[in-house]
Amino acid sequence: MDALPQVRRTDGQLADGRAITYYDRPDAPVRSATDLRTDLSVATSSELRWDALVGEWVVVAGHRQERTYHPRASACPLCPSTSDQWTEIPERDYQVAVFENRFPALTATTSAVPSAAGFDAPDGIAGGRCEVVCYSDRHDASAADLDPDRMTLVLQTWIDRTEVLRRDPHVQSILVFENRGREIGVTLDHPHGQIYAYPFVGPRDRAIAERVRTYRERHGRDLHADLIAAEVRSGERVVVADPHWVAFVPFAARWPFHVRIYPLRPVADLTELQPDEISSFAPLYLSVLRALDAVFGRSMPLIAAWHQGATHGDRTGSHAFMEISGWRRGPDRLKYLAGSESAGGVWISDVPAERSAAMLREALIT
Ligand SMILES: [Zn+2]
Repeated sequence: MDALPQVRRTDGQLADGRAITYYDRPDAPVRSATDLRTDLSVATSSELRWDALVGEWVVVAGHRQERTYHPRASACPLCPSTSDQWTEIPERDYQVAVFENRFPALTATTSAVPSAAGFDAPDGIAGGRCEVVCYSDRHDASAADLDPDRMTLVLQTWIDRTEVLRRDPHVQSILVFENRGREIGVTLDHPHGQIYAYPFVGPRDRAIAERVRTYRERHGRDLHADLIAAEVRSGERVVVADPHWVAFVPFAARWPFHVRIYPLRPVADLTELQPDEISSFAPLYLSVLRALDAVFGRSMPLIAAWHQGATHGDRTGSHAFMEISGWRRGPDRLKYLAGSESAGGVWISDVPAERSAAMLREALIT
């Protein structure tokens, strides 16, 4: 088993009290710059409302209307600071940096509005946290442009954040994700992702956990493991695999380019990954991202998200995986959610899974 490259973590604070943490390889410069901004206003009120009819929480965060929207490259808040431009990152350069979102949907003070009580609203739901993860100090890079060592450092960062955030007793689930592409409403071009620590388990992960439980009761077997084994056996929808990971287009793919990436060994969350699994993830993930961009010869607007087991309570049968939804269905056409998807919750897929898997395999740079 190869030893992983070391990570040096430096915790700091921004001028308004928000936390910032640098993740660097040990030979990087020391991170000691002070945030000298004096014009930061903090707007962090948000509340949870229970939609009793569908049984789901809605986060109401009106202050997010004020958030930075497509700033000029020279005013990017995720670039390092310079002598005349202060940003969210006080240092003059960085490798990976994580800070609390200035316009968070969830904070430690988020709580359910009293009128949400009744109608079977779950009790004691409060708190949460939203973080921004900057992958590089290069404004014009994308995750696909990172070298494997930087992508590994990003994964090591996601692991450490998961470890830190799950210690919070209010946090019930942690979603590590990236939205990429102006086409789908991304407001900052700088390569970055986000982490939402929710005080509840979201409906999609709840539904998956329920399916896993029912399948185990009926068949005495693990649903994730059986799905992975079936995909590997058939190979028809597999995009790329190595001894530790497999990336495939799910049988009932919803998005034009829909990929699930699984560690072959079941892990409830990222903190359970072992060194050889961590070091082999980056080359595989980068090859998937680059294939997604190569399919139509232009950047694929996408959402990439880690589904992880609930942070507290029963994690039996949890098997963390990454899900990528690529929205481009043709060189100049995007998939939008229309009546059937938005109103009926029934997906109509434009590209059969076998076809998108074959296109991605062909686009792999070998
Ligand atoms: Zn930038």
